Order: sequence, then structure tokens, then C-alpha cells
Amino acid sequence: MTSATMDASPKPARKAPDIQVLHCLNPECRALLAYEVDSDNVLYVDLEWTANSDGALRYFPCPKCHGRNIVEAWQSEHGKLKHRVTRWQPGEGHGGA
Ligand SMILES: [Zn+2]
Repeated sequence: MTSATMDASPKPARKAPDIQVLHCLNPECRALLAYEVDSDNVLYVDLEWTANSDGALRYFPCPKCHGRNIVEAWQSEHGKLKHRVTRWQPGEGHGGA
């Protein structure tokens, strides 16, 4: 008899939004930022208007690593326009320009 039971445990299909606090997207920083996002980093309360802007770029500055957490327009599955924190960039102004 073999004991090779390889049944993949099914993941629970939860549809409820998983609200969490945004962390800095810099994996070496992960500072808490005062924004609520869901598990896809979509802003739960759309505070995109509070983001800093640099030309067409919108971002939340990180108080710890001074990087930029880039906010981009994002269309939800219901066709509603929201905003999502998509990526991180190192901050500028730390090394001359
Ligand atoms: Zn940071």
C-alpha cells in the first residue's frame, strides 16, 4: 500500500473584499501607509486625490524609505473606475539631479 495521497486541498472561494492597510510596496520597507486597500491593492476608500503628483504620475510617498507608491487608474469588474497601487519607485531628490 502506498501512502502517496496528493490531494490538493481546495482553496475556499471567498468573494468578500479583504480590506487591509496599505504597506509600502518596497519589499525592504513595508512601512504602513494610512490607506485602506483590498487584496489587489485597490484603494478601498478612493483617496487617490490625496496622492502627490509629478506630471501625470500620482503616488503616495513613503515616510520611511521616501519611495513612491505609484497609483494608477483601475477599472473594477463592475466597470467602476477606481485606483490601484501598482508599483514602487525609489524616491528622487536623494543624490543630486
Ligand atoms: Zn517605504
